[in-house]
Amino acid sequence: MAFAFYNTLGREKQSFKPLKEGKAGFYGCGPTVYNYAHIGNLRAYVLHDILVRSLRRAGFDVTHVMNITDVGHLSDDADDGEDKMIKSAEERGKSVLEVADFYTKAFFNDTDRMNITRPTVVCKATEHIGEMIALIQRIEKNGFTYFAGGNLYFDISKFPSYGELALLRLDDLKAGARIEQDENKRNAGDFVLWFTKSKFENQALVWDSPWGRGYPGWHIECSAMSMKYLGENFDIHAGGIDHIPIHHTNEIAQSEAATGKKPWVSYWLHNEFLVLNKGKMSKSAGGFLTLQNLVEQGYDPLDYRYFLIGGHYHSQLQFSMESLEGAKNARKSLVDKVRSLAAKCGGTTTADTEKTASYIEGFNTAIEDDLNTPRALAELWGLLKEDQAETERLSAVFDMDRVLALGLEDAVKSADGGKNEDDALSREIDDLIEKRAQAKKTKDFTTADGIRQSLKDRGIILEDGPAGTTWRRL
Ligand code: AMP
Ligand code: ZN
Repeated sequence: MAFAFYNTLGREKQSFKPLKEGKAGFYGCGPTVYNYAHIGNLRAYVLHDILVRSLRRAGFDVTHVMNITDVGHLSDDADDGEDKMIKSAEERGKSVLEVADFYTKAFFNDTDRMNITRPTVVCKATEHIGEMIALIQRIEKNGFTYFAGGNLYFDISKFPSYGELALLRLDDLKAGARIEQDENKRNAGDFVLWFTKSKFENQALVWDSPWGRGYPGWHIECSAMSMKYLGENFDIHAGGIDHIPIHHTNEIAQSEAATGKKPWVSYWLHNEFLVLNKGKMSKSAGGFLTLQNLVEQGYDPLDYRYFLIGGHYHSQLQFSMESLEGAKNARKSLVDKVRSLAAKCGGTTTADTEKTASYIEGFNTAIEDDLNTPRALAELWGLLKEDQAETERLSAVFDMDRVLALGLEDAVKSADGGKNEDDALSREIDDLIEKRAQAKKTKDFTTADGIRQSLKDRGIILEDGPAGTTWRRL
């Protein structure tokens, strides 16, 4: 397959040529684990997943690296505001690492439920401080830094191509286009590589460094960890569009300042935002929806995945419960169609033949063309509308689902089994209702409430009545 991606660096669609034949090194910025991921964040990770699955289906050996930010991310990407992790830990009365651990688990619970493939390498910032210090030392040695007010800064005026990714003009930045709060900065766009003077008295995590005891600026972790696992230059880097002007711009500057090898990354892919009532959904602003909120309202995580891939990652996507409901119905009818196709041919598949070639080709062309999932999805629907050649069509459906990951093969497996599954679920719930009743008898309300809550998390509501406890789906 001949992929072409819209490269933010250069603002054009470019054909994909990996640095090493048959291999693809990919780094996607991961979560800052101070809260649950909101459904906007999950849009970014579905893009990463579609990219990885598409490349793997095309035969690439993909190494996918994702960071977990558990230190250093302030509420403003440009070194201002509060430390997100510390604030969250204080609010919850926990340590920073406890908070990080809890939300990292919650994050992967969400991504697993959405069929998002786990990265090849997941790396925590706090476990790579040594690599960050070593990289900062290289940047310093090459003359791109200055020390002021207790912090080590990156001097963007020393890096002529600063802002290329975001089409920022150095002259504008020098003139202080932004309102600047840190008087130590020589240029408004300068950023901290290492903090020793913290405005946070309670800075929980600090490390020794050549510049004093302190902690890293946010951007350096992505440069240090991506290069550790993918080499000094690699193929693809992704994140949301909010990362273009500061985070990714700074990642490029510091990485190329350290290695002198430009371009640091060949292709930059950025997903547009998921918006709610015309506003960006953001974690720090509060009031966001999580995947669990959707589950509690009766949606399957794959309904949300279907909703997301119905839009191209490069366009803004407006979320509403109505459109999610539409996605749920569409996915249900898709699953029904695939099940009835499978029933007709007894679940037997015959690998690709001429009968399905035009759909597979259409699907491949859509995916190659900057991961156009809405068009790819339309090819799947087209294939299902055809008649005859059932075994070939079923094989093609499963093949397409290697990228779309809507769980179609599992849906077929559990089709006759839809009933068996329901029976098994009923037995399990009856069992839990009995355990809960026993717990209540012995006044073990923690266990009893735990059972009720764990079922609720799975969309099952228990109702206590005069005739005992019954259950229903949310
Ligand atoms: P964070 O955990 O805040 O670092 O964000 C994780 C990822 O989600 C980043 O790639 C962000 O750019 C992305 N992101 C944040 N908000 C949205 C949104 N509303 N829609 C799509 N992506 C988003
Ligand atoms: Zn990053």
